[in-house]
Parts: sequence; C-alpha cells; structure tokens
Amino acid sequence: MNTIIPIKPAGRVKITPDNKCSFCKGSTCCTYLTHQIDTPRSIEDFDMLLWQISHANTQAYKDEDGWFLLVNNRCLHLADDGRCGIYETRPQICRDHSNDECEFDGPCGADDFELFFPDYASLLKFCRKKFKRWDQRLKPKKPAGKKRAAR
Ligand code: SF4
Ligand code: SF4
Repeated sequence: MNTIIPIKPAGRVKITPDNKCSFCKGSTCCTYLTHQIDTPRSIEDFDMLLWQISHANTQAYKDEDGWFLLVNNRCLHLADDGRCGIYETRPQICRDHSNDECEFDGPCGADDFELFFPDYASLLKFCRKKFKRWDQRLKPKKPAGKKRAAR
C-alpha cells in the first residue's frame, strides 16, 4: 500500500476529526480501492488470484473480515491539492469513510494483515507451500485407461 507522511500542523494546533483532513496532503484514502473476494480455497481459486495479482498495482490481503484485492490506483476525481473534484456528489462509500483511524495516523503495512501478498512472487511462494501438487496443476493429465467393453 502507498505510504503517507502526515503533515503536522505548525504550532500546537490540536488535530481533531473535523480538521484532520485539511492537514492531510496525500489524501491516501483516495489513492486505492479494496474489493472483497470469496475466500480462495482450491488450487483453481489461487490460480485465479495469481492472475488478478498479475495486473499492475494490484495486491491481495486477508484480515479479520476476509480476503481482499487491493488496487493501488488513485481516484480520477482526486485533485492535485488533495480535494475531491466531485465532493457534492461523491459516492456513498466516500461519505461513509471515517478519518478516526486512517492513513494520516501512519502507513498501512504488512503487520496490519493476517496475510499480505504485495506481488505475484509472494503469492506464488504461498501457493507452492500450501499445495504440494501446485507445480503439477498445468501438466497434461494422463489419458484415462481404456474401459473394458460391457458384455
Ligand atoms: S480520511 Fe485520513 S487519509 Fe483520508 S484525507 Fe482524511 S486524513 Fe487523509
Ligand atoms: S470520489 Fe472524491 S472522496 Fe471519493 S475517492 Fe474519489 S476523490 Fe476521494
């Protein structure tokens, strides 16, 4: 996940939920999206996840709420000054976002997740450890033996 360096206000201004965002120069909460996915269980599920994480700026993690894709692309409505270009009509999910505990307080990192896959290589390593037959999954299957003709 991208990191943010909180800009501390000069002097002794107390940071409150009401003024916090005005001191946040990175607006990191607008620079990625997460999307919950079904818990991957089978080799096929993880093969699919490998394909998803192969796309630029895409990562995956698992936390207490389940499995998620993390796409590190900034919102196209985020202006260079950190303001929302469609503030009055921004989507509900943006309105519901709380700044009580957000990236302003410190960057998210691997420690925030039960599992975190920053790239293809890390997920592939996990798959090979999880499934003994992982590297055999793409090999052509042996043709089934000829069935004896019924009499
Ligand atoms: S919610 Fe947090 S990360 Fe988002 S703009 Fe406000 S202070 Fe910054
Ligand atoms: S629509 Fe506005 S508030 Fe929502 S993510 Fe984009 S810039 Fe941020």
